[in-house]
Amino acid sequence: MFRIGQGIDFHRLESGHDLWLGGVKIPHSKGCVAHSDGDVLLHAICDALLGAVSLGDIGHHFPDTDPAYKNADSKVLLQRCYSLVREKGYWLVNVDSTLLLQAPKISPHVAQMQAAIAEVLHMESDDISIKATTAEQMSFIGREEGVVATATVLLQKY
Ligand code: MG
Repeated sequence: MFRIGQGIDFHRLESGHDLWLGGVKIPHSKGCVAHSDGDVLLHAICDALLGAVSLGDIGHHFPDTDPAYKNADSKVLLQRCYSLVREKGYWLVNVDSTLLLQAPKISPHVAQMQAAIAEVLHMESDDISIKATTAEQMSFIGREEGVVATATVLLQKY
């Protein structure tokens, strides 16, 4: 038996913050403003995992009002979400995701991001697809005011 889940996350981009994407710190003039490390891609994958087993969303499990999650490493949140999935009797089959941002260029970092996520989830890099697109200069994405990530996961019952 299979289950599918999808997730989406948004964060504001501002100077003076680190840019964490897919578990990797990416050199850039701006970073995500967030209670945690602001890793939108990992947050979208967390929501997809939770969604696939109807366990609510990341804000429910890790509220941004809880000081415990201040500057939290999103890799730890991802690990916790996958634990909840396994407790429900499911394995992750694959992840497909897309980052929407104007800058910086993501392609040079994709392999490192795949490896970082695969390590947390005990999967092969090949199981973690990461795509990226700009917004063709349109909207808050095009103005480099924010970044969006979407993720889809497939789970299989074991
Ligand atoms: Mg988030």
